[in-house]
Amino acid sequence: MKLEYYLSIMNRIHNTQNGTTITRLTPAGCNIWVVTRNDRTIIVDTGISFDRSRIERALKRKGIIPEAVILTHTHFDHAGNAAWLQAEYGSGVVVQEAESGMLAAGDTPIPEGTYTFTRGMIGIGRKMQPVFRYDPCVAEHVFNDQFDLNRFGINGYVMHTPGHSPGGATVVIDDETVIVGDLVVGTMPGSPFPPFADDVTLLLNSWKKIIDTGYRSILPGHGRPISREELIKEYDKRK
Ligand SMILES: [Zn+2]
Repeated sequence: MKLEYYLSIMNRIHNTQNGTTITRLTPAGCNIWVVTRNDRTIIVDTGISFDRSRIERALKRKGIIPEAVILTHTHFDHAGNAAWLQAEYGSGVVVQEAESGMLAAGDTPIPEGTYTFTRGMIGIGRKMQPVFRYDPCVAEHVFNDQFDLNRFGINGYVMHTPGHSPGGATVVIDDETVIVGDLVVGTMPGSPFPPFADDVTLLLNSWKKIIDTGYRSILPGHGRPISREELIKEYDKRK
């Protein structure tokens, strides 16, 4: 694998050939990706509410005012600060239609486990659903199939990629990098397959959609980036 790829992992910075910078904001409940081009910034995902003060410090330090917040989905660890960012910075929140109601209620059901050990965890987790509630947020932009990001100065779009959750969304930047939320994970040793998903068939269809578009770098909601080759290998095993 290329040295450039390892450097990008260490620095947590991805520069596309078209001049967009993608940085991981700060260690949080999920990866929060800051996407900047020509001094205009959007962020993808927001972490858990517990992370708020750390996120606020990091945004201040870097002088970032996010014009928009894109949610890859609305589980509590990704949508926990959407309402706060909207109120504090006036960020326009973008969410896929199937989860806009859950976001407005601040309550998104946790998904099924996909491995034996995670299925057991979910049995316990379901009884604790109230713990997974978060600040309700009414999104400015609700999309169905695709949402164009050029209105925020970013060369890219968001596409509907269900499977981990019904309103799963993937952010595509400069036709070369994708931010996929929990559709793919970078935390499990040896496999990018997520430990939790609502619908594995839909999830694999969404993987196919990502692979077919030819993108090189895949930035997941948790852990390290995944290469295109890693995803294809796992897809071929499971399809
Ligand atoms: Zn999730």
